[in-house]
Amino acid sequence: MALRNIREEGDSILLKKSRQVTDFNKRLHTLLDDMRETLLSADGVGLAAPQVGVLRRAIVVIDTNKEELPVEEQMIELINPEIIESDGEQTGQEGCLSVPGVYGIVTRPEHVIVRAQDRLGNFFEVEGTGLTARCFCHEIDHLDGHLFTERAERILTQEELEAQQENGQ
Ligand code: ZN
Repeated sequence: MALRNIREEGDSILLKKSRQVTDFNKRLHTLLDDMRETLLSADGVGLAAPQVGVLRRAIVVIDTNKEELPVEEQMIELINPEIIESDGEQTGQEGCLSVPGVYGIVTRPEHVIVRAQDRLGNFFEVEGTGLTARCFCHEIDHLDGHLFTERAERILTQEELEAQQENGQ
């Protein structure tokens, strides 16, 4: 496994649409292993392949609703993910490893069901609520070349961020 460089806003690869994964081979498995390691090392909750410079429809999400499990087991790999059901609404703060230091207020569904394939190509469905639903939506957006800053109703000011830090948030 190896850490990969996280591409940052301004890199045109983040604005491109990723292609479907068709080969569930060793190359994909190495990509996923590297994405898991890179995500943990960056202390994030989700990572999409284009963020490490690979335009393929693969994401890794940490299911924070399963905090009792070891972190390795909280990680969900989703290949060719598609949101097949969504309901409710949540409005809250969102950030991105590719847009460091920037946070915005984004409205997302409160609950989603995602259909995807695992690293062997088997189809499965997974449910997400709260932060995990937000994360699925955010990472799938990356596969279509969208950043959260496009969706944010507003970006938090420096003063607001400093106030949060002082409150230990
Ligand atoms: Zn992101």
